[in-house]
Amino acid sequence: MKLNTNSLSQILARRIINGGAISVHEFMSEALNHPEHGYYTKSNPIGRSGDFITAPEISQMFGELIGIWCATTWLKIGKPKSFILMELGPGRGTLIVDALRALKKLPEFLKTMELHFVEINPQLKKTQEKLLSDFKITWHKKLSDIPQKPTIFIANEFFDALPIEQFFFRNKKWYRRKVDLAEKKYQSEPKFTFIEEPSSLSDVDGQFVINSEWLNGSIFEFSPQSREVITKISKHINYYNGAALIVDYGYYEPNTNSTLQAIQRHKYVDVLNEPGCSDLTAHVDFKALSSIAKINGISCWGPISQGSFLRRLGIETRADKLSVSASKETKESIKRAKQRLINEDQMGSLFKAMVLGRKSSYPFPGFLSNDLSETT
Ligand code: SAH
Repeated sequence: MKLNTNSLSQILARRIINGGAISVHEFMSEALNHPEHGYYTKSNPIGRSGDFITAPEISQMFGELIGIWCATTWLKIGKPKSFILMELGPGRGTLIVDALRALKKLPEFLKTMELHFVEINPQLKKTQEKLLSDFKITWHKKLSDIPQKPTIFIANEFFDALPIEQFFFRNKKWYRRKVDLAEKKYQSEPKFTFIEEPSSLSDVDGQFVINSEWLNGSIFEFSPQSREVITKISKHINYYNGAALIVDYGYYEPNTNSTLQAIQRHKYVDVLNEPGCSDLTAHVDFKALSSIAKINGISCWGPISQGSFLRRLGIETRADKLSVSASKETKESIKRAKQRLINEDQMGSLFKAMVLGRKSSYPFPGFLSNDLSETT
C-alpha cells in the first residue's frame, strides 16, 4: 500500500509519535485550519453538494430579515455618518447578498456603509468576491484591526467553527482531554483515540466552572478564540459604538457533555476519523460569550431561540408575501423552508440568537426587554 505521508492524519500521527498526545484544541485547530490540509482552507463545505446547509442557504428570508435587523439597529445606534458592516465567516455570501437586497430600500445605509468580512477559506473568499462584485469589500483573515468606526457585526454559524479545549472531571479531579494514537507506530491509516491527562483548571477562567455541579464524567468545553473574538467585539462596541448579532447552535445552561461533532456529506461521522475531511464543530457556550461581553462593559440580550427571533422579525408575513404570486410548488417550498428555520424540532430551538450592544441603544429588533441577561 502506498503511504500518503502528506495527509493530515500522517502529519498529526508523526507529531504524536515525536512529542506525545496533542490537545483536543490542537487536533481541532489543525483539522479545520491547517494551511494546506485544513477543512476550511482546502474546500467549499457549504450547500447541497458540500457537507452541510446553513440557514441562509435554506431560504432568502433568513438574510432578508437580518438585513431588516441591520437597518433598525443602524437607526438605534444613531445613524452614524460612516460605519462598518462586518460579517464573520460569510460562507458563500448568501446571507449578506439577501440582506443587502433588503437594505436597498435604505440608500443612506448603503451609502455610509463600509463592508468588511472575516474569512479564512480562500475558495469561499473567491465565491464572495464574485457574488458581491458591485461592492467594495475589505477581507480579514482574522478579527484584528477593525477601523475605528461604529460597527455592526453579524455572525451566523461562525463561533461553532472555532476550536475548543475539553476538560474531563473524575473523582474530584480535572483532566485535559487529548488525542493520542491507538497504536504508537507509523501506519498508513493512523487510528486516533481520546485520552485524559491530569490537569488543573488554572489555565481556564475558573469563574465559569465553579458554580456548576460537576459530576463524575462531566466534560467542560472552552473555546479560547471565541472568547478573544467576543472581547474584541465588546471593546470595539464600547469605544466606537455598534452592535453584534450572533446566531449559532449552542447552549446557555451549563453543558456537561462533549458537543464535538463531525459532519461529512450531511451525515455525522467519527470526530477522530480523517482530520481535515469533515466539518468539525462544537456547540457554542452562549453563557461564556455573554459573560465576557458583560465583563467588557457591554449588555447582552438573549440567547433566544432562532424560532422566536425570526418570528419576531416577521418571518410569517415575509413568507406570506413571497407566496402571493408564487406557484403551488413554490408556495409549498417557502412553507417548508420557513418550518425548517423556525420549528422546534428542526432549527428553531437548538439554534439561538444573541445580541451584544450598549444599553443605551436598546431596543434591538427581535429582543424584548426581559431578554436582557443580567448575571455575569
Ligand atoms: N455564515 C455562513 C457560513 C457558515 S460556515 C452561513 O451561514 O452560510 C463558517 C464560516 O466561517 C465559513 O465561511 C468559514 O470559512 C469561516 N471560518 C471558519 N473558521 C474561521 C476562522 N477561524 N477564521 C475566519 N473564518 C472562519
